Amino acid sequence: MIQDIAPNVYQNHYDPAKQPAAGSYVIFFDNRKLFCRTGMGTLTFPTYGALTDHSGMFRYLFSIDQDEYYLALDQECVPKAPPAWEGWDLMPLFSLQRLQPKASAYAALEAASLGGWYTGNRFCGRCGHEMVHSETERALQCPECHNLVYPRINPVAIVAVRNGDKLLLTKYKGRGDVPFYALVAGFAEIGESIEDTVRREVMEETGIRVKNLRFYKSQPWALSDSLLMGFFCDLDGAETPHADGSELSVAEWVSRDAIPNRDDGFSLTSEMIEYFRTNGKGEYI
Ligand SMILES: [Zn+2]
Repeated sequence: MIQDIAPNVYQNHYDPAKQPAAGSYVIFFDNRKLFCRTGMGTLTFPTYGALTDHSGMFRYLFSIDQDEYYLALDQECVPKAPPAWEGWDLMPLFSLQRLQPKASAYAALEAASLGGWYTGNRFCGRCGHEMVHSETERALQCPECHNLVYPRINPVAIVAVRNGDKLLLTKYKGRGDVPFYALVAGFAEIGESIEDTVRREVMEETGIRVKNLRFYKSQPWALSDSLLMGFFCDLDGAETPHADGSELSVAEWVSRDAIPNRDDGFSLTSEMIEYFRTNGKGEYI
């Protein structure tokens, strides 16, 4: 999956004392676009030492091994404009996620998620005052009403429903003619356990009941500021699924030997489908 970058190690502990060094990477973020160079399938970020304009502030984001990443800001939570460099541009996030090295693509996603949080919380949602950064932790604080805002992560359930040797696969509406299968998926609602999310989403999207929920793995998914939680479960009762019409165009049982091999080494969904297709790689699912 995208976050599997070993032997590289992602460290997100926030340290307010950190200052960029010449070799630190600088993220210029603007509305889900990142300033970078993408020649030959390789993703490159500017370094602090290569910049001639060091005005504004550089907010520490995270490290991957010894490489530190900083968000370039003009003032608290206002994105700083990138330099005018030939061959460099603000690129949409979705165009970066499969570039190499994988650790840099992963850094792009997480930096965009944090960049979106910083720039989207410039003002207090309670009283409208300008926010300032906490001096001790990654949080934005309102100096007027003391509202404290932490990075928001939206929990999502990804559900692989098994019916003997068949898996419940779906196709979402509005995604053109993309022939790829997906799994039932949906956001947790307030007041709901993630297990309840699994049961509700499968019922809402396909009209079937499930049992024997088994947690598989999770995946940070920066494109929706989410934490995806993957579950396998079994059909409980009547087996005729129906696509709900508003979200899905297809929901159907697909035999193990008819499932295409599309594990892309990138998404939890594709890994779970491949895990079922290969019979749990010999493990119990
Ligand atoms: Zn406030």
